[in-house]
Amino acid sequence: MEIRFHNTLSGKKEIFKPIKDGEVKMYNCGPTVYDYVHIGNLRSYLFADVLRRTLEYNQFKVTQVINITDIGHLRSDADEGEDKMTAALRRDGKPLTMEALRHLADFYTEAFLKNLDELNIEKPTMLPKASENIDVNIDLIKKLEEKGFIYTTSDGVYFDTSKDKNYGRLGGVFPDTDVEKSRIHHNAEKRHPEDFALWKFSSELGWESPWGKGFPGWHIECSAMSMKYLGETFDIHTGGMDHIPIHHNNEIAQSESATGKPLANYWLHHGFIIIEGGKMAKSQGNFLRLQDITEKGVSPLAYRYWLLTSHYRSPVNFNYEALNGSQVALTRLAGQISYPSQLLGVAHPDRGQGMISLRHQQKFLSFINDDLDTPKALALVWDLLKDESISPADKRATILDFDRVLGLDLEKLAEPVHFKIPAEITKLADEREEARKEKDWEKADKLRKKILDAGFEIKDLGNDYQIEPGVAAPQ
Ligand code: AMP
Ligand code: ZN
Repeated sequence: MEIRFHNTLSGKKEIFKPIKDGEVKMYNCGPTVYDYVHIGNLRSYLFADVLRRTLEYNQFKVTQVINITDIGHLRSDADEGEDKMTAALRRDGKPLTMEALRHLADFYTEAFLKNLDELNIEKPTMLPKASENIDVNIDLIKKLEEKGFIYTTSDGVYFDTSKDKNYGRLGGVFPDTDVEKSRIHHNAEKRHPEDFALWKFSSELGWESPWGKGFPGWHIECSAMSMKYLGETFDIHTGGMDHIPIHHNNEIAQSESATGKPLANYWLHHGFIIIEGGKMAKSQGNFLRLQDITEKGVSPLAYRYWLLTSHYRSPVNFNYEALNGSQVALTRLAGQISYPSQLLGVAHPDRGQGMISLRHQQKFLSFINDDLDTPKALALVWDLLKDESISPADKRATILDFDRVLGLDLEKLAEPVHFKIPAEITKLADEREEARKEKDWEKADKLRKKILDAGFEIKDLGNDYQIEPGVAAPQ
């Protein structure tokens, strides 16, 4: 079945054709590891994960690279201000040494990888660090120098955007009309406001280069690493929509000026997480980490579920009510495909023997292959559960098959050993048991309903009872 992606290059949905049959090479702009990532950043990697899983579901072999930016990302995307990592060392009162820089990067890289794991995001094929790829940056800048695209100022080596006649073509964003231009402050030594740093001089931190000691700019790092690991032209490049005007246009300009070839054939960009009317951003101080929401009782997978309910290109408004709704829906979904307690541990013919409903599978494929329409794919899951012509075992098998793309870890969630009953549910169940003992049937029924609404069900077992994931469909 054909796959279609919205390509920012053309501004249209296009049929996806890989460079090499059966294989996809993709690059996802990674985090700058000067601090913990926030849940907005994590949308980037959740989106890339669903994209990768979709390609794998379509039987492509995917090579996925997420870079780790551990030097060179300046405070403003337009090459102004201090390097974020250097600023973080100062923030933490650490010495400005390469060793301290490495420690800082390792600490936040570990935290980032832990978040990926919690969100059931598959490890990319490679996670290269900018600091370990300085040589390829220098080689690429040399190439640009030979072709006459660079000039030097007192603070660094710059790319001359006027020499690239295609500059700024991504997303129809041309520098002169771009609102983002306001973020490009004027540096008197730059020949044009859009020119950007390829190499920044620094006497404190950095590496020797033909132009002087310093470090590569953030944009060139992504070009150098993506081409090193994936080739001069690869299939897919992704990032958040904020990367379109500057970062990705700059990546395209410098890579294509050096090689004369397109950098990537498909550019996919996801929307923002919005909070209190604005983009969630560290610089705005309006961000939440994954840990912040788990402390409020929302599991990382419920966050994943919540994001799947919106299309990746849509901005989404953060709110706890919606997240709690996703938590309940996920719990119910897991409940729907878990086995009734009496079957557990018994060699029941239903266990693991279900057949995938091909009719539903085709539909599922048509949704995810249509520019990753996960909201429709999730709605299909609930339609399937209501379909009485399909046996419970077949439903389970089909939904677990879909979960290869959705990545909700449903098989594990549905296993009673992993199925955590929240403390407030146990409390309600105890209260109901009390009410039953006192023969207050009305109160007992009310409590049972409350428990059911929260996604759980009580099974009475003679003098005892058991709490299980609920089987009711979400409202
Ligand atoms: P950075 O570490 O700043 O380069 O950001 C890493 C990724 O997070 C990039 O792809 C950004 O586009 C993305 N990002 C940053 N803020 C948000 C947000 N509020 N919502 C969604 N994605 C975001
Ligand atoms: Zn990048």
